[in-house]
Amino acid sequence: MKLTVVEAQAWLNEFTKQIEANKALLSDLDTPIGDGDHGNNMARGVQAYQEAFEKQQPQTLTDTFKVISMAMISKVGGASGPLYGSAFMGMMKAMKDMDEVTSTEELTQVISAGLTGIKQRGKAEVGDKTMVDVWSAVVDLLAADELTKEGITTAKEATKELVAKKGRASYLGERAIGHIDPGAASSALLFESLLTVIQA
Ligand code: ADP
Ligand code: MG
Repeated sequence: MKLTVVEAQAWLNEFTKQIEANKALLSDLDTPIGDGDHGNNMARGVQAYQEAFEKQQPQTLTDTFKVISMAMISKVGGASGPLYGSAFMGMMKAMKDMDEVTSTEELTQVISAGLTGIKQRGKAEVGDKTMVDVWSAVVDLLAADELTKEGITTAKEATKELVAKKGRASYLGERAIGHIDPGAASSALLFESLLTVIQA
C-alpha cells in the first residue's frame, strides 16, 4: 500500500467524479431529513478544489490536503463544509512528517486524524447518524486491514435505522428513521474512491 502525492490526487480526482455523478442522489438523501442541498454543497467544494488544482498543482501530500481543506471550508455552504474541511486539515497534520503513506497502519493514523478533526468540530459521536459513523467504521476496518466496498456500504446503510442527534436531521426525532444520512453517503463515496487507488 502506498499513497504519495500522485495517489492522493488520483483519490481526490475520483472523489470529484463520484460527487458529480451522485450530486442529485446526495441532495435527494438530504431532502426528507434536511434541506436538500448536500449534493450541491459537495459539488461546489470539489469544483473549487479542482479549480485551485488547475491554477497550481500541489507538489506534496500536505499541500494537496491543505488545498482541498480550504476549498471545502470556503466554498461549501452548510454544515458539511467546515466538517470536511476539518477532516482534510486533520489528515494534513497527520501527514506532516510523511513524504508518503507507506503502510495500512500509517493510513489508519491519517484517516483517524481526519475523524478526530470532524469530531472536534461537530461534537458528534458514533451512532448520532452523521458522517462520523462512516469515518469511524472505516478507521476500524483499516485498523483490521479489512477495508472493503461492502464494509463501507454496510456502515453507510447502518445510519438508516438511527435517530439523528446532530445536524438538521436531529430536528425530526424518530421521523429520521428509515433514511440514510447524506453526509454518511458522501463519506462512503470518499472511501470507495480511496479503495480505487490503494487497491490498484
Ligand atoms: P446542512 O445540514 O447545513 O444543509 P449539508 O446538507 O451539506 O449541510 O450536510 C449535512 C450532513 O452534515 C449530515 O448528513 C451529516 O452527515 C453532517 N453533519 C451535520 N452536523 C454534523 C455534526 N455536528 N457532526 C458531524 N456531521 C454532521
Ligand atoms: Mg443540507
